[in-house]
Amino acid sequence: MDKGKLIDFTQRLVRQASPSSQEGAVTQIAVDEMNRLGFDRVWVDENGSAVGVVEGANPGPTLLFDAHTDTVGIAPGSIWTRNPLRAEIEGPYIYGRGVADMKSALAAMVHASGSVDKSKLAGRVVVSASVMEEVYEGGALKTVMDEARPDFVVIGEASELNLVRGGRGRAEVHLETIGRPSHSSSPHLGINAIHLMMKVIEAVDNIQMGEHPLLGPGVLALTDILSEPYPAYSVIPARCKATYDRRLLPGETVEGVLADITTLPELKDINFSAKIAEEEHQAYTGKVLKAYKFFPAWELEENHPFVQKALSGLRAAGLDPDLRAYRFCTNAAYSIGVAGVSTIGFGPGAESDAHMVDERIRLDDLEKAAMGYKGIIETVCTSPASTSTMTLRKF
Ligand SMILES: [Zn+2]
Repeated sequence: MDKGKLIDFTQRLVRQASPSSQEGAVTQIAVDEMNRLGFDRVWVDENGSAVGVVEGANPGPTLLFDAHTDTVGIAPGSIWTRNPLRAEIEGPYIYGRGVADMKSALAAMVHASGSVDKSKLAGRVVVSASVMEEVYEGGALKTVMDEARPDFVVIGEASELNLVRGGRGRAEVHLETIGRPSHSSSPHLGINAIHLMMKVIEAVDNIQMGEHPLLGPGVLALTDILSEPYPAYSVIPARCKATYDRRLLPGETVEGVLADITTLPELKDINFSAKIAEEEHQAYTGKVLKAYKFFPAWELEENHPFVQKALSGLRAAGLDPDLRAYRFCTNAAYSIGVAGVSTIGFGPGAESDAHMVDERIRLDDLEKAAMGYKGIIETVCTSPASTSTMTLRKF
């Protein structure tokens, strides 16, 4: 692997702005690089994700690496000390929007996959530069996985070069209270939906969340509230909506999350509903993705063969990873949480680097990530057949 070319590719990715649903140009940069590195097949799917395949000479598993190409924007009023689109290198760091979340991971995956010895590879490696993760985790990855049918998935979100074997999920819960409108000069004739919602919020905020040894606590956080009509001129509002962000632990289901709220005894006389939010997102290709905003938590056992193989691959690459979990929600919520395909996380940078002012990554970590991805490929994409052939040759 050529470190200079890896850094150059990372810089080209960062210099092309790619907020969600505007990833077209950065997709093209990924496609061109995969072609330049001799990937066997490269295509852009209906959502605009770039997908590249490296075919091994021997039969074996399909290993999918996923990195999303979209980034969050630059918050108004946030003061960067560097131009977020210039990919400046200063000291040991490269700076820019998306460099940690997660264009350096994408660059490392593409270069690692493009540098493997295909004659020794059993199975195939697929790299997915997927769109729209920041607005809809797993939505674009589903399309990639339907086509690539992977046996194993590696999500490249920042893990400080540690191996991630679990992640909290996320749900967006919409609550709505229904009152009765009246003129506000006679409020006793109506039922104020805001007052109802205040009772609902008080009860919901007291729901005890579970705790998981690896993933930490579940979360139920009130994020917005809106009454109808708004503004209400001399009207007692008949409806009030509130949104809760719920961070999920393994085993939590839609039914369970909603029942925690709807079965609260103190709310049995209040007219309200609770449901999972739904949303539509249009990709830059025009394709519309319908998001049902429930993204399950996930966990792979420490002794799972994929975790152990990936660990030995990372160690063979000279790394010393811990086992960890993602506290935020990633595309793994789909790959393992919904599709049930064994998934791990491994990437350069820290979770706390994502979405930050002066987002940056260490150049050394970019290179180590690429070595780590290559190590994972070399331990996972080996077939029993090729191992026994090697043993026979030794004798
Ligand atoms: Zn990310």
